[in-house]
Amino acid sequence: MVVDANVERVVARLFAIEEPLPGARPAIRAGADTITPETRAGDFAQAMMDLGATICTARDPRCLLCPLAAACRARAGGDPARLPVKAAKKAKPTRQGRAFWIEQRIGGEDHVWLVRRAGKGMLGGMRALPDDGWAARGDGDGVPVCEGPWEAAGRVRHVFSHFALELSVSLHVGAAPQPPGEGEWWPLETLDAAGLPTLYAKAAQLALARTGEEA
Ligand code: SF4
Repeated sequence: MVVDANVERVVARLFAIEEPLPGARPAIRAGADTITPETRAGDFAQAMMDLGATICTARDPRCLLCPLAAACRARAGGDPARLPVKAAKKAKPTRQGRAFWIEQRIGGEDHVWLVRRAGKGMLGGMRALPDDGWAARGDGDGVPVCEGPWEAAGRVRHVFSHFALELSVSLHVGAAPQPPGEGEWWPLETLDAAGLPTLYAKAAQLALARTGEEA
């Protein structure tokens, strides 16, 4: 039988399979095989899918209307909505990094040093604040990318698909003779137009709050 999510739910409840998904799939498939008729198996599969979609629903199974109620072990157990059990999601690892807000007055206007990230990798090709490559271990105090002095502006937490990042933001206002990386002095007046990804936009907000300027 084709075992989609609806069939999976019905069978897990029918046989009260307690093992969490996805590990329970072989047991669910074996259970489904034991109830699949030799003839009109396709119609049976369709009926089970419909049952899962309309009656044996994920949150609110309507057991009183269910043709399988008499045989259903989860119903007999009193709490069918608990099944199927889903495996707890693994916590994402957290990486630490440090970003640098380097601000300088040029031609009477305040500017910040923005770099272009490498084409490959996270946020590839996007404009960004210079950072330490998010490689710091544990305390977020990555190696500065150029001479300071640095003032701590706070931390930003951002969750990517495979890890969370805690980025500490350090700022330096004043002459920066050797800003890091390939970049440009960007006027604060038009920072919104820089297209900073959310992570760096949040970091910029922190820095601006620290320096008393508005985004
Ligand atoms: S009796 Fe309830 S839990 Fe069991 S299959 Fe039917 S709707 Fe689902």
